[in-house]
Amino acid sequence: MITITVNASKTYDVKIGKGLLCRLGNEVRAVSKAERVCFVSDNNVWTLYGSTVCKQLTQAGFLCTQFIFPAGEESKNGSTYLALLEHLAESQITRNDCLIALGGGVVGDLTGFAAATYLRGVDYIQIPTTLLAAVDSSVGGKTAIDLKAGKNLCGAFYQPKLVLCDTDTLNSLPHGIFRDGCAEVIKYAVLYDAALFAHLEEKGLAFDREGVIARCVELKRNVVAEDEFDRGQRMKLNLGHTIGHGIEAQSNFTVSHGQAVAIGMAAVCRTAAWRGVLNAQVRNSILALLENFGLPVKTEYNADAIYASALSDKKRSGAVVNFIVPYGIGDCRIVQIPTGEMKTFIEEGL
Ligand code: NAD
Repeated sequence: MITITVNASKTYDVKIGKGLLCRLGNEVRAVSKAERVCFVSDNNVWTLYGSTVCKQLTQAGFLCTQFIFPAGEESKNGSTYLALLEHLAESQITRNDCLIALGGGVVGDLTGFAAATYLRGVDYIQIPTTLLAAVDSSVGGKTAIDLKAGKNLCGAFYQPKLVLCDTDTLNSLPHGIFRDGCAEVIKYAVLYDAALFAHLEEKGLAFDREGVIARCVELKRNVVAEDEFDRGQRMKLNLGHTIGHGIEAQSNFTVSHGQAVAIGMAAVCRTAAWRGVLNAQVRNSILALLENFGLPVKTEYNADAIYASALSDKKRSGAVVNFIVPYGIGDCRIVQIPTGEMKTFIEEGL
């Protein structure tokens, strides 16, 4: 097991290793004086791991309740959120008690936002069960639900009490969802870490899960410690995301987030090479790595369509959009592109 400590507005541990679900009771007891815990999960994940986690916490002396909702982004909305709050109130969850998010980013974001707001704030623990949640959404305290106008438009910065990533849970992930998470792992490598990039090149999908997840968490921890509230350097984690979000929206979300981010990263690499700031060989190795992981690097949508969707992205600030542009592996920079030049910037990358 590897432990990474996050120092943000709260200090907490992220523990990563095999078989951690089987010691969940002790781990939760070590950080919580709760009498009751409420598990929040989706129907897929709960079917797989619900009985294990309930048994663990009951044995550790907690009273358990659960709120299970249908899997998928469509559930990350105001009505699921309110239903969860009502469930917490009916189950007499108090301010000393604790919520536990068991699932991917959808479960984690929704649980975190409920924890931030129920009784003006109760503890919550993240148990990420997707690769994306393990390396990204469970760490750093961004919580949210979606509004009709767009994803993650209502949320709070609210750090968890503990993050427990049992790498065995990744074994049940469908391949496509695992690969989506790989796009985020590759993102960390391009942003910050040539050694991680080399490891992924060498091992492909057989990469060292515990070590790689821990390294990504450590990298995210460093960013969050410096810029918890996303005013500066944390923006870099959006590498590939502005074009990616445009593609996701254009496809009506039939192109998955991970695939869209992979195409977005490939596009900014092409633009950067075209503009002479990224070596063509490095561009080629990034594209080859994405493809080696079964991720797409091209899109059928044109710059007009992507531009229209990307313009409404949160990364926009006034008349400019912040793009994260690779100058090399481990050297990515925030570049402000005026909205008037954005279409050309995207076009050069397609
Ligand atoms: P997800 O939570 O929808 O999970 C994907 C699918 O995998 C679901 O069908 C789920 O039931 C299934 N699943 C989860 N774990 C499983 C397991 N171990 N075995 C089998 N099936 C399993 O999606 P995701 O990709 O984990 O997260 C995406 C969400 O994360 C988005 O809503 C996004 O906005 C959010 N996000 C948040 C942050 C943040 O910082 N808070 C960062 C990135 C993404």
